[in-house]
Amino acid sequence: MNFNRQCPICKSTQIIKKKRYTFVIPKNSLKITEVIKKENFLFSVDFCKKCGNLYLYPRFTEEEYSIIFSSKNKPYLPASVLKQTLGRAYLNFNFLIQFFNYNSKILPKVLDYGGAAGYMLIPFLKKCDCYLIDYFKYNLLKNIQYLGRNLNNVINKFKFDIIMALRVFEHVNDPLNLLKDLTQVLSENGIIYVQVPLGCLREWKSLDTPFRHINFFSEQSLYNCFRIASLDIIYLKTKYHKIGGNPGWKIDIIGIKSRESRKHKKIRFYTTAQQQNLKYIYYLPYFIRNKKFKLKEIKKIIKLGR
Ligand SMILES: [Zn+2]
Repeated sequence: MNFNRQCPICKSTQIIKKKRYTFVIPKNSLKITEVIKKENFLFSVDFCKKCGNLYLYPRFTEEEYSIIFSSKNKPYLPASVLKQTLGRAYLNFNFLIQFFNYNSKILPKVLDYGGAAGYMLIPFLKKCDCYLIDYFKYNLLKNIQYLGRNLNNVINKFKFDIIMALRVFEHVNDPLNLLKDLTQVLSENGIIYVQVPLGCLREWKSLDTPFRHINFFSEQSLYNCFRIASLDIIYLKTKYHKIGGNPGWKIDIIGIKSRESRKHKKIRFYTTAQQQNLKYIYYLPYFIRNKKFKLKEIKKIIKLGR
């Protein structure tokens, strides 16, 4: 267990405890009892005043995670998941290629980090060399190369032109280090696309387990994580995603690794406090479903979309 009080992103010690939790360890869970040798596990959601990061404290080590999530069973995704994901995969592809210049002479290399069975790579298969890293090894689609459960065998061997890490960083023990490692395997002028839930909004307030999401991002904390990893940010927005599994508010951010240290074009972002106060955004799906738009509400929604 890591009881280091520093913020996992900016390393500041200006930390406030926002909420305390007591997690009762389920008696039949042998893997968890192997790591936590008490009946209760006390944890909190902490907030870094400097970079706006909201995160779970204390942090488990990689070793402890590998015990808790060890599984002998090969993960299986039912066909319905492919059907659900395909619409999202094409939306994602069309969005991402706006930011990437194809050079027809060389096939770009694309890495999906945490990509499960590789469904998000389907639209890239004809135009790119496709690679995948995931903690579990799924039955991958043809023409997708599995590179292991982490970047250990990839650093110094591969460079990718596009890296995607979609709905991954909210689970990651050390988001800054992962981003730095991913930047290391990014080609010059390559782009990295990260999508996370808007965890700072309400998710952190009602956790039932310390083992699902451990980072509750805002635009501010994600922005700071990218800048500390020396990436230039070319896109940052919070949108409601309704296609595919797990709809909800997500933050999308794209960073570029620039050859020269050009001046970073400042991108606007909402702070954690601002995003937490935009409470009306909960109600957008309700308004759409019930067609109960009021002028005042529409104005607020437009303001959010910038
Ligand atoms: Zn911080």
